[in-house]
Amino acid sequence: MEKKELQDSIRRLVKEKNAVLLAHNYQRAEIQEIADLTGDSYELSVKASKTNADIIVFCGVRFMAESAKILSPGKKVLLPNANAGCPMADMISAEELERLKSLYPDAFVVGYVNTNADVKALTDVCCTSSNAVNIVKAAPSDKIIFIPDKNLGSYVKKFVDKEMIIWNGYCPTHHHIYPEEINILKHENPDAIFVCHPECRPEVVDLADKVTSTSGIIRFTKEDPHKKFIIGTEEGIMYQLRKNSPEKEFILASNGFICPNMKRTMLEDVLLALEKNRYEINLSPAIIEKARLPLERMIQMSTAVVQK
Ligand code: SF4
Repeated sequence: MEKKELQDSIRRLVKEKNAVLLAHNYQRAEIQEIADLTGDSYELSVKASKTNADIIVFCGVRFMAESAKILSPGKKVLLPNANAGCPMADMISAEELERLKSLYPDAFVVGYVNTNADVKALTDVCCTSSNAVNIVKAAPSDKIIFIPDKNLGSYVKKFVDKEMIIWNGYCPTHHHIYPEEINILKHENPDAIFVCHPECRPEVVDLADKVTSTSGIIRFTKEDPHKKFIIGTEEGIMYQLRKNSPEKEFILASNGFICPNMKRTMLEDVLLALEKNRYEINLSPAIIEKARLPLERMIQMSTAVVQK
């Protein structure tokens, strides 16, 4: 089937089955084009939970679909490509976190939402890349276990005066971008603003004019008066940037800024997911209940910080 035919068939099934189609900002453009909602992983799960859809089709990676299931246990959640995982989320297991917690029993565990459900269930609170600093500041302890991203952890550490035990995980896509590449681009484009995601290595973050989440990058580049931006995150975001600010110029910081897992999902997968109800996310009620608590606490703690 041609692209347009596939897209039309997907949209028809989305409607017929009372589904909602979510696409993370890093998905292929042809999927973002037909999604009901695009955005950051957690933001998408929250928005989907507020719809009256019976089925959530999550075009992203497994931990994202799991978060959607945790927030919408009564809905069927489908991950169109069963092999779309996240190497960073897989860098810490529940057993490893249990061991770490036993070494620091008085520490408060802050887990980035990029964790698998069984790991989330063992954390005290979750955080996103946009609220991580505030969540760690608001945590009721001066000793923090931060998992799994060492780059986000070291970014947060710059803003808080707390002891942080940071897990050695990282996003292979963001971590393998080096300051040398950024310096060359900055030199070639002196009028450009460099915006990057905090999953980048600290030496790259140090070069940024603005550090923020994917949705933050889309918002910032739209509102900022500059006309040219060097973009330090995954390639899929270019679709949203060009759509939101067609008059501006965006330069991807590196040709290697592609997450293979985010690109696994094809239109054919989305169509088959809807036709065959595959691949359904199944989590035990116990895991859903335990993993929901740190997500709810994140909302409470973010609200508390905002109200201060
Ligand atoms: S971009 Fe990085 S954090 Fe996001 S899914 Fe890919 S590997 Fe995981």
